[in-house]
Amino acid sequence: MDEVISVDVAILGGGAAGLMCAMTAASRGRSVLVVERSNKLGKKILMSGGGRCNFTNLTTDPEHYLSDNAHFCISALRRYPPTSFIELVEAHKIPFEERKHGQLFCVRSASDILAMLSEECRDHGVKLRTRIEPQSLTSYDDQGGEGRTRYQLCCQSPDGRVIVRTESVVVATGALSIPTLGGSDQGYQFAEQFGLTLVPRLPGLVPFMATGQLKAFCEQLSGVSLPVTASCRDQSFTEDLLFTHRGLSGPSILQISSYWSPGETVVLDLLPGHSAKELLLEGKKSHPSQNLLSFLNAYLPRSLVALFLRETAGIASNPRLAEIRNAKLALLGDLLNGWQLKPAATEGYRTAEVTLGGVSTDDLNSKTMEARRQPGLFFVGEVVDVSGHLGGYNFQWAWASGFCAGQVV
Ligand SMILES: Cc1cc2nc3c(=O)[nH]c(=O)nc-3n(C[C@H](O)[C@H](O)[C@H](O)COP(=O)(O)OP(=O)(O)OC[C@H]3O[C@@H](n4cnc5c(N)ncnc54)[C@H](O)[C@@H]3O)c2cc1C
Repeated sequence: MDEVISVDVAILGGGAAGLMCAMTAASRGRSVLVVERSNKLGKKILMSGGGRCNFTNLTTDPEHYLSDNAHFCISALRRYPPTSFIELVEAHKIPFEERKHGQLFCVRSASDILAMLSEECRDHGVKLRTRIEPQSLTSYDDQGGEGRTRYQLCCQSPDGRVIVRTESVVVATGALSIPTLGGSDQGYQFAEQFGLTLVPRLPGLVPFMATGQLKAFCEQLSGVSLPVTASCRDQSFTEDLLFTHRGLSGPSILQISSYWSPGETVVLDLLPGHSAKELLLEGKKSHPSQNLLSFLNAYLPRSLVALFLRETAGIASNPRLAEIRNAKLALLGDLLNGWQLKPAATEGYRTAEVTLGGVSTDDLNSKTMEARRQPGLFFVGEVVDVSGHLGGYNFQWAWASGFCAGQVV
């Protein structure tokens, strides 16, 4: 026999945005069911921030988000700013710390955040169901209820079919990144089914893969990291770069990857904040007998300098500074401040922290996240075409959008 559940609100996906939405709606007295496909709630929360969950950022503002509509996120982020989430974390006595660039992390473990959200949900009577897979979602007019739109969700659980009847459906299924952590496309399918537009999706916050000479270069330096400024189009990020066996990673690369399209050049400044040309020319005056390698070693990792001079600058020997013509030093300086390279591809959804694109914000109300032409249907979190920079901005969007929907469902 089918199990039939009637609730005010059904939330598809028990991740960051879904759980925030659930606890907010339930705290208003709504009956709420969370339908989670996987065996566990909040897997991405547990894996996030290297296990410490970078749960928000003190500098949250629209400039840290990518979307076809740069203004869409403003309203939700104002209604539920980082301070609101920090208050919740403090009320649960979770120790946290501020790291660079306003990033807030748990001191103990990301599991503190998941435990907090789960506790809030349970305290407010949210029904949390795992291993339950939505199969179809249909809307109908409720004749007994002033002709309001209602929804029927058919799901499959290990114990059989579950039919959920509800007034509001919140799609919080996340996105395509890291399928093993729950990444799925069902949220997009429901959006399309109800006539919402999808902005093309791409992996974001993702390492680059290299081929040919660049791959050999990266392989030899695998494990070496240094601060750089990575630029593409009109965006720049000054953070660490990490050479890997496959290509390039590290925060600066993850950040710029969200702005990169295949075929485009990425420019790396290996000496951010310095004019390498001036350094070299002044070095030649002050330390004429010093050799080039040991001079640059004061600023850059030795293995990188040796390889860069040989492979990129075409300087195979290790001349003394006095022996190098000024024009050549100037050229080398320009190369160090503006190394142009072409990644072959990104590592794709397998390792991407986010999915760019998603449900078009044109079709959603920015205050409530409700579909403009489909009453009672809401989209929150990463499934929406709003993606943050690295640094806690993605969770802040998940909390804020989940909260806004939770206030009105
Ligand atoms: C490795 C990693 C580390 C990260 N670290 C950080 C960080 O430190 N700070 C930060 O701000 N962001 C971080 N992010 C990004 C952040 O995790 C996401 O932006 C955020 O989790 C999005 O929240 P969401 O609720 O929209 O989606 P999710 O958290 O992905 O939740 C979606 C949920 O829906 C479930 N689901 C999927 N399909 C269905 C379906 N059809 N039916 C029912 N349930 C379904 C999934 O199993 C999952 O539980 C990280 C991402 C990754 C991959």
